[in-house]
Amino acid sequence: MNLILMGLPGAGKGTQAEKIVEKYGIPHISTGDMFRSAIKDGTELGKKAKSFMDQGELVPDEVTIGIVRERLGKDDCQKGFLLDGFPRTIAQAEALENLLKDMGTSINNVLHIKVPTEKLVDRLTGRRICLKCGATYHVEFNPPKVEGKCDNDGADLIQRDDDKPETVKNRLEVNISQAQPLLDFYDSKGYLVTINGDQDINQVFEDIEAELGGRSL
Ligand SMILES: [Zn+2]
Repeated sequence: MNLILMGLPGAGKGTQAEKIVEKYGIPHISTGDMFRSAIKDGTELGKKAKSFMDQGELVPDEVTIGIVRERLGKDDCQKGFLLDGFPRTIAQAEALENLLKDMGTSINNVLHIKVPTEKLVDRLTGRRICLKCGATYHVEFNPPKVEGKCDNDGADLIQRDDDKPETVKNRLEVNISQAQPLLDFYDSKGYLVTINGDQDINQVFEDIEAELGGRSL
């Protein structure tokens, strides 16, 4: 079961990834984790990646793909994997196709958790933070007992600049313009499965199970 998980910030990818890992026993492989473990293991590619990151440069595709290849070759990927945050570009997606072909396998599904942009803006702008203790709240999903005040210490809650509507909208637009070509690419290959993310978390997962359920592992 070789899966790619896609979705905009706030779409609930993290939560669904946890559920997929638990149910299907495949590892959740995020780009960040992959880089961190390659660097920690001190592999040649990890060292290369680190030298670019230390200089504040983007890690070139050839290094990234090499790290993906190493990661997907590990024992825990024998039943499959859930890739998250990779690929980001068509070039990377094509490289991944070739890499999997070399390994004698291919992508099975690209799960796209889709939530209308205006709903994402609501989700992402609802966050409030206590400056005193760092506790986070959400005006709708995790509200404090007293509006605008921290449950722990009664301090005022603030909205970070990152969570303000204009910033959130800009961030989403950038993400949409990056993701759309990839979604089109996977759609044209017949891999794309669109999951309605604008519903209860458990219902979202039931929909994912309905898509994946019949597959043997
Ligand atoms: Zn507090």
